[in-house]
Amino acid sequence: MNKNTPIWRPFTNMKHSPDPHKVIRGNGVWLELENGQKIMDLISSWWVNVHGHAHPEIAEAIAKQAKTLEHVIFAGYSHEPAEKLANLLVQELPKGQRRIFFSDNGSTAVEVALKMAYQHWKNLGVDHKQRFLAFEGAYHGDTFGAMAAGSRSVFTQTFDDLFFEVDYLPYPKIEDGDEIASTEFEVLAKLEEKLVENHAYAAIILEPLVQGAGGMNMCRPEFLRALEQLAQKNDLIIIYDEVMTGFGRTGDWFASRVAGTNPDIVCMSKGITGGFMPLAVTSANDRIFESFYDDDANKTLYHGHSYTANPLGCAAAVASWQLTKQAESVFRNFPDRYEKFVEELSAFSLVSNIRNRGTILAWDLQVPGQWGYLNPVSTIIKERAHESGLLMRPLGNTMYLMPPYCITEEELSWAFERILALLKTL
Ligand SMILES: *Cc1c(COP(=O)(O)O)cnc(C)c1O
Repeated sequence: MNKNTPIWRPFTNMKHSPDPHKVIRGNGVWLELENGQKIMDLISSWWVNVHGHAHPEIAEAIAKQAKTLEHVIFAGYSHEPAEKLANLLVQELPKGQRRIFFSDNGSTAVEVALKMAYQHWKNLGVDHKQRFLAFEGAYHGDTFGAMAAGSRSVFTQTFDDLFFEVDYLPYPKIEDGDEIASTEFEVLAKLEEKLVENHAYAAIILEPLVQGAGGMNMCRPEFLRALEQLAQKNDLIIIYDEVMTGFGRTGDWFASRVAGTNPDIVCMSKGITGGFMPLAVTSANDRIFESFYDDDANKTLYHGHSYTANPLGCAAAVASWQLTKQAESVFRNFPDRYEKFVEELSAFSLVSNIRNRGTILAWDLQVPGQWGYLNPVSTIIKERAHESGLLMRPLGNTMYLMPPYCITEEELSWAFERILALLKTL
């Protein structure tokens, strides 16, 4: 299988994976396949599609921009869509995030954040702050810096020797029966211990409120606030990787706004263009920016990509921003819409750790086999879901819903019914 095609697919064992389903059209939450089957996209196509497929307003904005200016070098030259987008983002980002740096995907947004934090200290003449702190279970992308900052796993083990050193803390995820406050206290105590005994940390990077690829692990806003206090006391830079949590996913524009926290650096991508164009942003506060704002050319942030701030991407993001603004009450309401389904889910003895943050609902399945991403139940569910008209992609034994915000009440009930039926077959 997959042998007679020039395409080498992402995260895919090319020898053992079945041929992919060919999609010919998208509309709202629906994907239409070549064979005529319709599939409901419950995971927003890897979490990027926040407003539904082929949204006419975003499509129109891209078409209009394409006929005006498709791309231009972003050093020495500028353009309206990038400037407009930067101003809009600053309005919704947490207080202090005033500097917008463009790149093209979540991994590069993280690379830029790590470089900003590392160079910040060099620019200040502080040479010993060179290590990063991160969390177990974290996923920050697949480029080298992003892999190094992420949790070490089967996906990265081949490259282990090439990574810079990172110290990890446990992510205080909310689980059935756990005393979450004391779990958080232990993590914070570990962090404080590290900060006191070792002054070598440039920054701490984390996925605020929800760790995505690591299994939809959720922590409390209280934890983010306590972490911020500790970081401030110890002069530690905080990087929020909001690549997945941004643009309404967690029930507000950003997880930082849910928690009321003010990180130094924020990474964004996925939902930024509504899933239309690859685009990313790393924002920073003036604390970071000021250390680069200097007569000395060596203090420049020497980073950029050919497609940095691509006008089509920025135009899509501006249109998507407006739709996100209109959808505020919609993404805030998801917990209510999940309520009855959560009750039905909890009746299954197979189901544990049901958790919800904003538009994201996740639960674990108590099935035999290794706990985590490689549990074989994910393949079985993926196939059965597809047969019943649902696009789902469990993270091992963790199932989750992350639909586009435009999903209607009827569509959601339809999905719930099918998921419950699917669970009965396990
Ligand atoms: C997806 C993701 C990334 C990587 O983004 P890509 O666009 O896939 O490179 C980084 N961080 C988080 C939290 C993500 O979910």
